[in-house]
Amino acid sequence: MIHVCEVGPRDGLQNEKKHLSVQQRVELIERLMASGIKKIEAVSFVNPKVVPQMSYPEEVLAKIRRQKEVVIAGLVLNPKGLERALETDLDVIHFTLAVSDSFNQRNARRTAEQSAAEIEEMIAAVSQQGKPCVAILGTAFGCPFEGQVPEERVLKIADRFVQAGCRNITLADTTGLANPLQVKRMVTRFFETFGDAIELGLHFHNTRGLGLANVFAGYEAGVRHFDSSVGGTGGCPFAPKAVGNVCTEDMVNMFHMMGVSTGVDLEQLIDTALWLEQQLERRLDGMMMKLK
Ligand code: ZN
Repeated sequence: MIHVCEVGPRDGLQNEKKHLSVQQRVELIERLMASGIKKIEAVSFVNPKVVPQMSYPEEVLAKIRRQKEVVIAGLVLNPKGLERALETDLDVIHFTLAVSDSFNQRNARRTAEQSAAEIEEMIAAVSQQGKPCVAILGTAFGCPFEGQVPEERVLKIADRFVQAGCRNITLADTTGLANPLQVKRMVTRFFETFGDAIELGLHFHNTRGLGLANVFAGYEAGVRHFDSSVGGTGGCPFAPKAVGNVCTEDMVNMFHMMGVSTGVDLEQLIDTALWLEQQLERRLDGMMMKLK
């Protein structure tokens, strides 16, 4: 069984030129829930002046008609965002940094070390409250500015977050630099280091067309949690020419064709991608949606 974490409402929409209204974002999230997605990164607590697409996270969360079995997550970048997030009914807090300094400087205006220290504290704070969290390590497979990122560096930062109380780590290929053999090596080393006490998720972008190949490599190496975005929306405002996330319906289709269940209704998901394409008023990158 594959566990999809749908990041379209956050990672996807935050890089779209067209800004969706609170109501449209709520409808997207509800459509995703209706298609059987069980975890959604729905919002992000960032400065609306910097990321206007992610404005009003509290309003979005308040309007979603929640379903018991669906986990709603929100992204937090700093203590101020965490304070806001903890006042909502979010199930899971997502923390993120880029493990490469140059990228993190551009993204968060501080070194990876500074971000890591801040996230450690935030993890300790939410863990004390019994709230689950996921630490997402960006540029874990390479940095567009620095090139290769040593596996050691990734594992060391992951270990700090684990020590601070985080049970879920996601390795993100922010700008699509990973290749399948590298994914296999990284995942193998991760499991050797942490065993299966820590849940590992993978987050790929399709910048070089390797998204699904990387998902498959991760699957073969034992990973069962994957981020993806409906219609393949997304990118990164700080990454030169980054294109979207792995497309959810294409990934779901791949697993279904291999006889691996995802719990997702593919047809309904494709309908949601087509609906989203209309809302965003641009052609989306998903392949399955083009067959309809
Ligand atoms: Zn991403």
